[in-house]
This record gives sequence, structure tokens and C-alpha cells, in this order.
Amino acid sequence: MSKLPNIGTTIFTTMSKLAADSGAINLSQGFPNFPVDPKLISILKEQVDENVHQYMPMAGSPSLLTQVSALIEKNYTRKVSPSEELLITAGATQAIFTTILALVNKGDEVIILDPSYDCYEPAIILAGGIPIRISLNEDFLPNWDVIEKSVNQSTRMIITNNPHNPSGRVWAASDMEKLETLVKKNDRLLVLSDEVYEFISFESKHLSAHESSVLRDRSVVVSSFGKTFHITGWKIGYAVAPESLMEEIKKVHQFNVFSVNSVAQAALAKYLEHTDVTELGAFYKEKRDLFRNLMRSSRFKLLPCEGTYFQTVDYSAISQLDDVEFCKQLTTEYGVAAIPISVFNADGDDRKIIRFCFAKDEQTLIQATERLCKI
Ligand code: PMP
Ligand code: GLN
Repeated sequence: MSKLPNIGTTIFTTMSKLAADSGAINLSQGFPNFPVDPKLISILKEQVDENVHQYMPMAGSPSLLTQVSALIEKNYTRKVSPSEELLITAGATQAIFTTILALVNKGDEVIILDPSYDCYEPAIILAGGIPIRISLNEDFLPNWDVIEKSVNQSTRMIITNNPHNPSGRVWAASDMEKLETLVKKNDRLLVLSDEVYEFISFESKHLSAHESSVLRDRSVVVSSFGKTFHITGWKIGYAVAPESLMEEIKKVHQFNVFSVNSVAQAALAKYLEHTDVTELGAFYKEKRDLFRNLMRSSRFKLLPCEGTYFQTVDYSAISQLDDVEFCKQLTTEYGVAAIPISVFNADGDDRKIIRFCFAKDEQTLIQATERLCKI
């Protein structure tokens, strides 16, 4: 019997394949199509000639752990012990999976907020937990009344994602306060804070669980170098948690991957010594603004985008097809691939909203929007 009877192939695999098969411009799966910083490439080449080809220590290369701890201190004024509170992972996906496997017991309830990133629910099920899926409001911000009412003695964890994929929304200070209150009121409750887009927010800086003294003691914060340095294929990220939680996470990690790719760790440790991540928001803001301006004359309705590299649009003025079918049509007939939002909702709730990735060079964005404006 399947352990995941209701899970098929991910929408990212499906849409990227359809885009490739139909020769469409791929604005579906989230990955940049422009070159990586040449400095990172030259450091990587240098590191290949060094003695960095054997197993790294289980939790990560000491120099990378030190650099990540410095990055967190610089950006959030939180001091993290590199040896006790940090773990280098094979992308945020593994950090999330390993955290859930380590901290969720059979029968524990885990709250996820829909539309939710697709790797959360399967990990909860495989851990023997019970996913409790709660819809975000229509504006994709949390409905705290419903969330509060859903927490009970069995609730072990709430998974938050801010800045939010797929909507591009960023939480307000009042949302963080509500989360703090929830954690204070419920002794057993942990937060898995998925902050892979932590450095990609536009009008205002996103608020991190790192910055809250209440949240940081009860949270596992997860991030991804894939997003921060345009290297999604490297599959490298990290988790930050108080020592007592991290001890449990490391117990699983050591048998899940043991340790992460050594060359990538060595290169990132060197690169982080000279890199400023605070420019990333401005870099992507330019792309967001270009994409939104180019889309103005289309019949798609642009929804707010405050962070991430995703723009959601409402297509109900164009078609009444469900969003999965509409994305297929968009790809095969109009030559632009997108992601339907319904696949991230419980029961595939369809609101005629799709997601475009604007982490692309200018030429690609111009070409794609020319096609989209003709529909
Ligand atoms: N969480 C969210 C919200 C994501 O969008 C992604 C993928 N981009 C991940 C986790 C996984 O990140 P990674 O590619 O580092 O595994
Ligand atoms: N996170 C990426 C997105 O939202 C996809 C990553 C993947 O394909 N697993 O598009």
C-alpha cells in the first residue's frame, strides 16, 4: 500500500516538463535564468583544487557554520551558536523534512496555511502526524481567529512561510505578534518558519522569527542559499533552532544525509566572507516592477507582490477554465508556462489565480509578457 496515496508528481516537475515539451517560456517552476555571480563561480573553481572532497563534519563545515551565524547576527542581531544551533542541509526541502521527522510524533497535529508549499504535507504524513490545513484569507494573509481556534493539546507545530510562496505576500508586525501570542498560550506548540525568501522583500524588510525573543526559542527557522545566491541547483540551505530542538534534528539528519556536499560548502563559506545580501531585495524589486509594468496592458489582474520572486494574477476576466487546465492551455497554446495555485490548497480549491516567476533576464520577461498581453 502506498504511504502517500494522494500524492502525485509535483506541479513543478509537471509544468517545467510541459514547458520544455511545448517550447514555451518557463515562468512556472521558481528558478533564475540569469548567470550566477562570477565571483562565486571563480571561488568554486578555486575550491575544486583544494582538499575539500571528503565528508564534511555532520552538521556542516565549521567555516560555513561560522559564516551563517555571522550572517544571521548581522541581519537580525541574533547570536546563534554555530556548533549547537545551526545545521547545513541539502536545501530547505531537507531541512523541512528532517525537522518534521524529528519533532512530529504519531498523532500530532501540524497546522499548515493554504495555499501551502507542497513539501509540507507529505513530510507530516510520513512522520505519522496529522496535517491541519487552514486557508489563508482571500488576500493570502493569515486568519488568526481560525488558527487560534484550531490549536489544541494535540497541536505540535505550525508551519509558517514568510515571504510567502506562492502569493508573494509579506506578514505585518501584527501577524508576528499574533504568532507570538499563540506560542505563549500553547506550551507544546513549535513553529517551523520557512524563510527561504528572507532576503527578497520590497517595500519593507520581512520580519523574521529570528528577531522575536518569544519565537526564536520555539522555532526552527529554515533558509536556502538556492534563493539567496541564485543557485537553486546546488540544493544547499540551513536550519536554525535552539539547542534542545537541534539535537533531535541532528539525530535524524545524520542518518538522512549525514553531511552535505563538501565543495558547495567550502565555496559558500568563502563567498559569504565578502558578500552583501541586503542588495537582493532591490535587485528583484526591479524585476518585479518591470514584469508588472509590462503586464499592465494585459487582461490579467495583478495581485499584490511584496516579496519572493513570484507574481500572482487573477485570470477570471480571460477564462473560466480551472487553473490547472488554464496553465496547460497557456503553456501549449500561448507559449508561457505558469503554476496553478489550486494545487497548494486542500481539495484543490480553485480561485482562478496562477503564479508567474519573474526571476528571469529582461529579454525573457519582455518576450513572455508580449505573449501574455495578446491573450
Ligand atoms: N520552501 C519554499 C517556500 C520554497 O519556495 C522552496 C523552493 N524554492 C523551498 C522551501 C525549498 O528550497 P530548496 O530548493 O532550498 O530545497
Ligand atoms: N520552490 C520552487 C517553486 O516554488 C520549486 C522547487 C522545486 O521544484 N521543488 O517554484
